[in-house]
Amino acid sequence: MPLSDSFKARLYPLLPELKDHFGTPFHIYDEAGIKKTGDDLNKAFSGMRSFKEYYAVKALPNPSILKIMTELDFGFDCSSITELILSRQVGAGPEDLMFTSNNTSAEEFAVASAEGGSILNLDDINLIDKVAAMPETICFRYNPGAERDGNHIIGTPLEAKYGVAKNQIVDAYAKARARGAKKFGLHTMLASNELDYTYMVATTEMLLEMAEQLHNKLSITFDFINIGGGLGIPYRPDDEPLNLTAMADEITSLFREFAQKHGYMPALTMESGRYITGPHGALVVSAINRKDIYRTYIGVDACMSALMRPALYGAYHHIEVLGKNGSNGVETVDVVGSLCENNDKFAIQRELPVIEDDDVLIIHDTGAHGHAMGFNYNGKLRPQELLLREDGSVELIRRAETNADYFATLNYEPKVFRA
Ligand SMILES: *Cc1c(COP(=O)(O)O)cnc(C)c1O
Repeated sequence: MPLSDSFKARLYPLLPELKDHFGTPFHIYDEAGIKKTGDDLNKAFSGMRSFKEYYAVKALPNPSILKIMTELDFGFDCSSITELILSRQVGAGPEDLMFTSNNTSAEEFAVASAEGGSILNLDDINLIDKVAAMPETICFRYNPGAERDGNHIIGTPLEAKYGVAKNQIVDAYAKARARGAKKFGLHTMLASNELDYTYMVATTEMLLEMAEQLHNKLSITFDFINIGGGLGIPYRPDDEPLNLTAMADEITSLFREFAQKHGYMPALTMESGRYITGPHGALVVSAINRKDIYRTYIGVDACMSALMRPALYGAYHHIEVLGKNGSNGVETVDVVGSLCENNDKFAIQRELPVIEDDDVLIIHDTGAHGHAMGFNYNGKLRPQELLLREDGSVELIRRAETNADYFATLNYEPKVFRA
């Protein structure tokens, strides 16, 4: 199932008025749905000694959304300076911030270490010497290489630019300890949009085995094991949702076995983005043009600047037409934006109810890696974001970009170099 029946039942009746009030296009997110998913996740792992989700900020970096995460006792997984700033602005303290960066600059480390710091998750053994002051707690991102298959979005670990290789991982912890680290975490992130929960169980098993090996070689224990994000959501109507309770039960058993064997239980942490907000967002657009050439094209008032996933990954996003269920006829169309790129399409050869100008289309599951991924190529601007509150009110939580925003970087102090 794409959008939940509950979200649709609360959203769809409002859409004609929302279209008048705010205008289209807009992304709209569901506070109640996000909270329910967050609560379910916390409950699923209540058998652990300690569990904490660090929401992957890049999925939906909006302060109003991040505030909901703090209400769920979630922390934040950040990988840029602006994500750190945003998370601190909604009140995240050092323990609530996981800094999982790649190809990290000195400036990024400086900001991550400022204001009480954050939990540094180092992506390479060479970075140990580049952290100005080694924090008390250090984590490494582990890349198991040939031992695991990755998946479609992330690619195979052997070809992925992330993490510390297997033959470096012992040295990495030894070196960090020699530089003063006293507490340790172990992290990996191997999959993206994975619907098969057993993949995450296998990842947990792999990390716990690695924690054991590291203990045997270096006598270190682990404060936490972070199994990454990458939990999938059903974008297609016939996708089976991830089995959260089975996943949590099996992971909890693995941690209990580990605790029996080693006399302590590390905390479990994870950093899902998509799973938490993905299904609780929709991109609402209006049809503005219909074109019948070799194919039929339905032109809408948003483009790739609002949602890149179909063009970038060939991703499927379910689409519904407000007030039309197909009983008055269906046709096969491409739903397209206005960008001068032929992959600027929200749907390709999709069977949809017959669409006329001004019809409202609901593009599902845009609550993660949607608005955030948008870009300004071709001078296209990003749309506004709205939040459907639990009390039924709808709030603007980010305005649409304007021409002035687009031209803002052309306002600068003159600067010239002459040899
Ligand atoms: C993108 C990313 C995530 C979140 O991925 P989802 O697929 O949204 O769960 C988590 N951790 C890291 C390091 C990432 O790069």
